[in-house]
Amino acid sequence: MTGSDRAHSDRSLEETIAEGSGAPGFDRDIPADRAFACDDCGRRWYYDRRRCPDCGRSSADASTVPLETGEVVATTTVETTPPDVRAPNHLALARFDEVQLIAQAAAGDLSPGDAVRFEGSHRLRESRDRTDPRLVAVDDA
Ligand SMILES: [Zn+2]
Repeated sequence: MTGSDRAHSDRSLEETIAEGSGAPGFDRDIPADRAFACDDCGRRWYYDRRRCPDCGRSSADASTVPLETGEVVATTTVETTPPDVRAPNHLALARFDEVQLIAQAAAGDLSPGDAVRFEGSHRLRESRDRTDPRLVAVDDA
């Protein structure tokens, strides 16, 4: 574990939590199920930032990589949301190796320790045209 990947932000924490997705600060429009990856050192991070937190390389040309299977750290349900965000809004704090993120969960049935992946195509905010996946439990085969 290389420490937490803090969501430093130009947006309010409430807005970030309400949406449960997206990239505060610079907001490059990458899918919710991908993370940035440093081309030099391989460090991954989720919320957009100007530089790699490990080696300092500019993130301008950083690659993105898919997030495969993660583990739920915590969950919450937000009852009072902005007008264009569903209510109640089920959210999960999840860890994908070194990448930790908050994302919308498909339903309110996740628990800490559950294995999750991103699935589906949903409008996370009604005011945006783009769609993104939500977190769902991985069925143990
Ligand atoms: Zn780096």
